[in-house]
Amino acid sequence: MSQATLDHPQTQDAAQVQSPLDLAMRLFESAADRLKLSENLREMLRTFTRILEVAVPIRMDSGAIRTFTGYRVQHSDARGPFKGGIRYHPEVTMDEVKALAMWMTWKCALVNIPFGGAKGGVVCDPREMSPTEIERLTRRFTSSIQPIIGPDQDIPAPDVNTNPQVMSWILDTYSMNTGRRALGCVTGKPITVGGTLGRLGATSMGLAETIAAAAKTLGMPLHEARIVIQGFGNVGSNLAAILHERGCRVIGVSDVNCALVNRSRLDVPALMRHVRETGTIQGFPEAEEVDREALLEIECDVLAPCALGSAINRTNADRVRTRILAEGANGPTTTIADRILREKGVFILPDILANAGGVTVSYFEWVQGIQSFFWTEEEVNSRLKGIMRTAYLETFAMAEREKIDMRSAAHMIGVRRVADAIETLGLYP
Ligand code: NAD
Repeated sequence: MSQATLDHPQTQDAAQVQSPLDLAMRLFESAADRLKLSENLREMLRTFTRILEVAVPIRMDSGAIRTFTGYRVQHSDARGPFKGGIRYHPEVTMDEVKALAMWMTWKCALVNIPFGGAKGGVVCDPREMSPTEIERLTRRFTSSIQPIIGPDQDIPAPDVNTNPQVMSWILDTYSMNTGRRALGCVTGKPITVGGTLGRLGATSMGLAETIAAAAKTLGMPLHEARIVIQGFGNVGSNLAAILHERGCRVIGVSDVNCALVNRSRLDVPALMRHVRETGTIQGFPEAEEVDREALLEIECDVLAPCALGSAINRTNADRVRTRILAEGANGPTTTIADRILREKGVFILPDILANAGGVTVSYFEWVQGIQSFFWTEEEVNSRLKGIMRTAYLETFAMAEREKIDMRSAAHMIGVRRVADAIETLGLYP
């Protein structure tokens, strides 16, 4: 991609929502330009190591057989085994999984953990499936991708609509198929079957740590800061709980059904109880229900998109009024929106930095599983905070030194480390 195209992204972002793969490739090419990488290295880095598409036929509760499509994409293992989550969603596409796999490579390198990048997904709507159907889907999908996964090869984890229960089905299926219990074959497992303390809230804990660091950089007190969060799943709800506990005012949240606002502050523990009982934020009494899109335009100090990609795009970026954008989701901001927000002076904590807490604690889980030696929650959290703080400071220092934004700086560090590994390994044969 030429520099001219990168500098004039309007042509690419003409559609309201930019494709995640286009976004990922632009960010990579831009970092490669800045790093002056050779064309040989660029080609290796933009090419995916392995791509697998599988049919996932399962028997539904009705007796009918439905065949779903699943993907596992492995981008790079130059720095260690492939690592990345598995997403269940009706809009999963191969291109999206490729983009997410590439981001995992840079993310693991940025937080300096010894993993490469991968991602998986199954095109399905789990909201319309029973738990037993989801279990059969998971077991069949795991068996289908089994030839390319394993503790030293590629380690899946949770992502959108997959959770610790799904991870334990992956562990059980892998163990039954191989005849041995390999705790390191998947992360995000429940504690009862070799998971780690602190994994469930890890992405949000890391996100909160980077928000605190950014607030310090901006001289902005976090106490009483107004927080708006899109998405109230694993990442969004735990972030709300952590920030509420730290004295911030969570004033708006949304999920797939609706958005809620309470300009004074939402009672987050009560809202979480409501979600546990009903499965949604909808119907929570102590808040006003507003349009989901309007939520992103509420004036606040921290806006955290924690749902799906391209949430902030050319149609709404102008109306976003926040000081900090903390990207819990992967790829929530399109190229044009990113530029609009930067022009408005928004401090952006880019996804590969901001949401790296999840894979960092996944790394801790993998290490503990391999050693069968488990840590306390305090050890997990303090190591996580240390890694997130270092990654933030390194990214900020790079941004200052190169006079660039945090997203470009994060990509420069990640891409540089992977390129270094490739050069050091040399070329086989
Ligand atoms: P999740 O399935 O637990 O939650 C997703 C939430 O988003 C749900 O509350 C859902 O209702 C909501 N949602 C869906 N569409 C929405 C819409 N249009 N508007 C508002 N809300 C909507 O998923 P998660 O694990 O919390 O992941 C969320 C994001 O964070 C994803 O982009 C994922 O890739 C990223 N992420 C997750 C982890 C992790 O450890 N789980 C780690 C890094 C990044």
